[in-house]
Amino acid sequence: MGTDSRQFDLFSTAAQGTQTPEEAPVTGEPVPSAVGPGAGQTPGAAHGTMEALHKDCLHCTRCALSTTRTHVVISRGNPKAKLMLIGEGPGQQEDETGVPFVGRAGQLLDKILASVGIDKDWDIYICNVVKCRPPGNRKPTPEEMASCWPWLESQIQLVNPALVLLAGSTAMVGVLGIKTGITKMRGQWIERGGRTYMPVFHPSFLLRNPSRERGQPKWLTWEDFKAVGERLDTLKPGAQNREATH
Ligand code: SF4
Repeated sequence: MGTDSRQFDLFSTAAQGTQTPEEAPVTGEPVPSAVGPGAGQTPGAAHGTMEALHKDCLHCTRCALSTTRTHVVISRGNPKAKLMLIGEGPGQQEDETGVPFVGRAGQLLDKILASVGIDKDWDIYICNVVKCRPPGNRKPTPEEMASCWPWLESQIQLVNPALVLLAGSTAMVGVLGIKTGITKMRGQWIERGGRTYMPVFHPSFLLRNPSRERGQPKWLTWEDFKAVGERLDTLKPGAQNREATH
């Protein structure tokens, strides 16, 4: 596994500022999700294939975000991956390109993934709770998340990942209904509905918190992703010791 010096390399180019809003404190205990698994109020996956999902989702007008978007932003990565990451929603660059996590936060995510040997194109499928950019990069409303949930539900069912990373408090609330702060929940494995979830800090939060010190969000995130990489290795038949390859 990596070293502290490699961690410092990983975060050395993380600039100040942010691309998307994230990490507003969320308080309270875990509660049943209003939109996610266990809600019992959303339709099941209506799409038999990812191609059908894309075809319909690209024309979605289920909520008002459809009136201000440039592109519907559905996913990147491998739809057959065992690992899925769910973020909050598209930012400006994602809205312009139609691809999630391509801005500075996404670039940092790619560096984190690479640092623990997770191939961004092969080992992971990346998407968001809402597929259209909330104006001004505000957080999506509960109603918008509920409107978009059937798409995410279909994505989860079609990809069928063993591990799901929830990047930030909005994803944690939107998918699992957990309103406890992300600072408390990050790094914990959560078993739900036959899958294993882990809340992690959103990369945009890390851009705003550049400290590399032990115990700070970047350091903690690197520890979390190391654990994810190791867990992912156990799901790969014949996987070699990660220490030997990095
Ligand atoms: S955010 Fe989701 S529900 Fe709203 S218009 Fe976009 S795809 Fe449809």
